[in-house]
Amino acid sequence: QAKSAGRNTLRFFDNKMQFLISSRAELEKDLREGLRQQQLRLFYQPQVDVHGQITGAEALLRWQHPTRGMVPPADFIPLAEESTLILVIGDWVLNEACRQLQRWAGQPAMAHLSLAVNISVRQIHQPDFVDRVLAAIHTTGIRPERLKLELTESLLLEDRDEIIHKMTALKTCGVGFSLDDFGTGYSSLAYLKQLPLEQLKIDKSFVRDLLIDQKNAAIASTIITLARSLGLNVIAEGVETEAQRQRLAELGCDAYQGYLFGRPVTADTLFALTVHGPALR
Ligand code: C2E
Ligand code: MG
Ligand code: MG
Ligand code: MG
Repeated sequence: QAKSAGRNTLRFFDNKMQFLISSRAELEKDLREGLRQQQLRLFYQPQVDVHGQITGAEALLRWQHPTRGMVPPADFIPLAEESTLILVIGDWVLNEACRQLQRWAGQPAMAHLSLAVNISVRQIHQPDFVDRVLAAIHTTGIRPERLKLELTESLLLEDRDEIIHKMTALKTCGVGFSLDDFGTGYSSLAYLKQLPLEQLKIDKSFVRDLLIDQKNAAIASTIITLARSLGLNVIAEGVETEAQRQRLAELGCDAYQGYLFGRPVTADTLFALTVHGPALR
């Protein structure tokens, strides 16, 4: 009797959870298979200076799945971050980004570009993180100054000394750091001051309503002033309209990224955009 009740209970739980559990497990299995089958792709979104010239790009991960189609990172990175899968993925991204920088180094029109790579919290906490980055740089022979690592504030909450130590080691070798989605996290200004950063990246949530929401405009303005005072450069993400670009320029923003200048595209398309300019946008 008790046994069957138990089984029923279990089955009830099963019915409710089966979809979630199996789809997560399936997604993870799929992702491991996708890695083996080389289904990951990097797309490149242009970053431009105040003159609209492309000075670099951000590498954004996509998963080209045979039946799911082009899967955006939001649909699999959080899952990957729950396991060591993110380390395998992160390593692939880092090495592929360096290989792309190496290809660009051989193309006169592209040789000046920098490439920003998103780094997950688990990645930076790997004991050999610094060595892994340096290995990717050395095997491809790229100039470390071309590589920029994007960290988020949430990533910086734990083991601060360890993170500052690792960042400093890489900065000494020439690698730059940008603080992504800035303004959405909780980092203290005292801590921010200690980080060997090169750039703050204004989160797109503040850019979106820049012209209609006075508070967002005030935040963007404050971030730009803060960056200045700390000797950092500042880039705005999610710039979609000329009016937003102009307002940010008035506030003193140094660089821009967003659909106004180009969506994340393949390396070939980024080449065309860089060579032929905004006419192709
Ligand atoms: P992120 O690093 O903040 O990247 C910016 C996101 O904003 C990208 O979404 C980009 O496509 C999108 N975006 C750019 N311009 C505009 C715009 O004008 N308007 C709007 N509405 N959106 C814009 P995406 O490619 O879907 O990436 C989402 C997030 O996934 C990234 O946010 C990043 O946190 C994560 N991610 C992407 N690639 C990687 C990776 O290789 N490794 C890790 N760890 N995370 C990654
Ligand atoms: Mg980013
Ligand atoms: Mg961002
Ligand atoms: Mg973001």
